[in-house]
Amino acid sequence: GWRHVWYYHNHKYDICMNCHCSLLQETQVNIHVGSHVWVEDSALAWIDGQVMNINGKDAEIRTSNGETVVENILKVYPKDVEAPSCGVHDMTKLSYFHEPAVLQNLSTRYELNEIYTYTGSILIAINPFQRLPHLYDTHMMEQYKGAQFEKLNPHVFAVADDAYREMINEGKNNSILVSGESGAGKTETTKMLMRYLAYLGGRVSTEGRTVEQQVLESNPVLEAFGNAKTVRNNNSSRFGKFVEIQFDQHGKISGAAIRTYLLERSRVCQISDPERNYHCFYLLCAAPPQEIEKYKLGNPQSFRYLNQSNCYELVGVSDAHEYLATRRAMDIIGITEAEQDSIFKVVAAILHLGNIEFDKGEESDSSILKDETSSFHLHMTAELLMCDPQALEDALCKRVMITPEEVIKRSLDPLGAVVSRDGLAKAIYSHLFDWLVAKINMSIGQDPNSNAHIGVLDIYGFESFETNSFEQFCINFTNEKLQQHFNQHVFKMEQEEYTKEEIDWSYIEYVDNQDVLDLIEKKPRGIIALLDEACMFPKSTHETFCQKLYQTFSSHKCFVKPKLSSTNFAIAHFAGEVLYQADQFLDKNKDYVVLEHQELLRASKSPFLVRLFPPVSEESTKSSKFSSIASRFKTQLQQLIETLNSTEPHYIRCVKPNNLLKPGMFENVNIMQQLRCGGVLEAIRICSAGYPSRRVFNEFLKRYGVLAPDVLKGNYDERNACVVILETKGFAGFQMGKTKVFLRARQLAELDAWRTLEL
Ligand code: ADP
Ligand code: MG
Repeated sequence: GWRHVWYYHNHKYDICMNCHCSLLQETQVNIHVGSHVWVEDSALAWIDGQVMNINGKDAEIRTSNGETVVENILKVYPKDVEAPSCGVHDMTKLSYFHEPAVLQNLSTRYELNEIYTYTGSILIAINPFQRLPHLYDTHMMEQYKGAQFEKLNPHVFAVADDAYREMINEGKNNSILVSGESGAGKTETTKMLMRYLAYLGGRVSTEGRTVEQQVLESNPVLEAFGNAKTVRNNNSSRFGKFVEIQFDQHGKISGAAIRTYLLERSRVCQISDPERNYHCFYLLCAAPPQEIEKYKLGNPQSFRYLNQSNCYELVGVSDAHEYLATRRAMDIIGITEAEQDSIFKVVAAILHLGNIEFDKGEESDSSILKDETSSFHLHMTAELLMCDPQALEDALCKRVMITPEEVIKRSLDPLGAVVSRDGLAKAIYSHLFDWLVAKINMSIGQDPNSNAHIGVLDIYGFESFETNSFEQFCINFTNEKLQQHFNQHVFKMEQEEYTKEEIDWSYIEYVDNQDVLDLIEKKPRGIIALLDEACMFPKSTHETFCQKLYQTFSSHKCFVKPKLSSTNFAIAHFAGEVLYQADQFLDKNKDYVVLEHQELLRASKSPFLVRLFPPVSEESTKSSKFSSIASRFKTQLQQLIETLNSTEPHYIRCVKPNNLLKPGMFENVNIMQQLRCGGVLEAIRICSAGYPSRRVFNEFLKRYGVLAPDVLKGNYDERNACVVILETKGFAGFQMGKTKVFLRARQLAELDAWRTLEL
């Protein structure tokens, strides 16, 4: 499909969403017989070759794998045969600024274990899938401390150092946004950033628990409860996270605040092979014997919430060891022994809860406990939650209906009871997670007098799977928001560079993704608003919800109604079209704990549990009959964006080089797709719309002086000399800044062609 519209010199270009070939019109150089070129290839994304023949618009190319292909000359890109064999640190230094050159550069560097590369100020990090200890040791941290950004190899430490200096020197808040798909290395990157910031802002301390230690130890605790093995990542974070590290006027860490986003709840009750539930369940099953005894646990295979998948263990990870490590981390954070005990009791209770099964009762549409085993687990659950077993059974098997006329207690059929059971498990778990986050925040403490802070964002990247549900919808919404923020920032940076160099940029325009955002979040007729409306109306189903969407957005250019379905819809996201299955949207959007469950838990003898479910005031239950996950998330996102807008952002784009999670495999097509989704190519395009190639005067003269050797004789003015060279060769449309030459997209390549003739 064709989507964005690009303006340049008042000419309008459509951008092809498949190959992003919009700029072809301007990137073509004189390609002739003998030219080294890149041509598209289905397996490799791009393959290099040499032009053998040209027939009108068709170029015949002999590729480096020995084949001959014919391709439209407009789709062939020139190859820089002089590109350095070890690649370049910064992609903006490439002679040709196009997809194949970008890919080639990354792959060359990856092969040399150079996993980091800049694109201007954006850091691209390609997951090495192997420990590179020297890359992160203390010696490395020392080197980056206070070093000039471009002097050393690209590194996460350089980004963190840059953010830190900017904060210290200018008193500005900074943020570092880490993005990428699942398994790309976001969380590892975030941990490195935090380690480096703790190194810069740590105090030499003899006491056991410093703020920076607490900040670092919050990671293993949150991971134990919020991470799980998925097919994409053995330690996949199932929540988004924004950590704000506060510094005092001496640049020392003085506090921190952690905000989390959208924990995946369904995983607590439902996992598919070969994934796992949240780590904490397995850790607890591997606890020392006396604790196993206390929580009446046993083999993970015996629990329904774990045995839906055949995966119990992680290669190279000992759950027993992790259990103790998590406990230690909790100690450091300041979670007391008693609290830890309460936490794990709740975790154990959820496992037992999942083993309660139901059969049909005597009355029609009622249910009873299935057997002795179910009864055992019911009693265990009640004991651990410190509530009455009968009350628990009632809460699972009955539902109170409040009608205007009366209050009826209705029985649930076995299926309804299972839904109720799983609902209870999810509610308890998500409240436990929220409590943990709040507790961590409280223990670390916020510094009300903090001078400035650095925020680090580790949030799920764009997702498009075979089936996409409510979670993907929210995740992709997040990414649209962040993409807009990113575009605006990159664009602003470009403009600032032009302003600094005092050159004219007024004609550069671009269209952003506001239309998709409107489709999703606009009030009162965006998808979220319509979803909330559907959730509040008792008769609605996912079909009626979809019908409403079809009616409302029939002519919206980012909304697609599939021909053969009445329960699906698609959105044309910036990173591609995604088809959503609407069937669980309504259920998943509803965020309330049913009354029976609330009452049960509030009557618990465990003060900890009671605190997890603070009473909701009469007023608020009435006014908001239901609270919507999507709306709450939208508000959270809005706050996040506002926070980010008040900071100086830094971007790290993590890339997953292959889906086997193996070192040394660089899958071109896969990586290209991620660079597109992550906005790296978008950034390149924003730059290309203006003057993508810029060279400091003397660098320019060093390389292109041969084109007019006379101007370099005697005393000459550098700026003037550049102009003379360009004019001698008939160039126009370039601009001269105060220190740099600014060139249009194809001009550097043309200069190179001239240069080759000269040499
Ligand atoms: P994400 O958070 O993006 O889903 P993770 O940060 O959890 O991905 O990384 C997935 C896995 O990749 C890690 O468990 C680790 O094995 C490996 N990995 C990621 N980054 C690095 C790195 N810089 N060095 C070594 N291994 C890494
Ligand atoms: Mg992660």
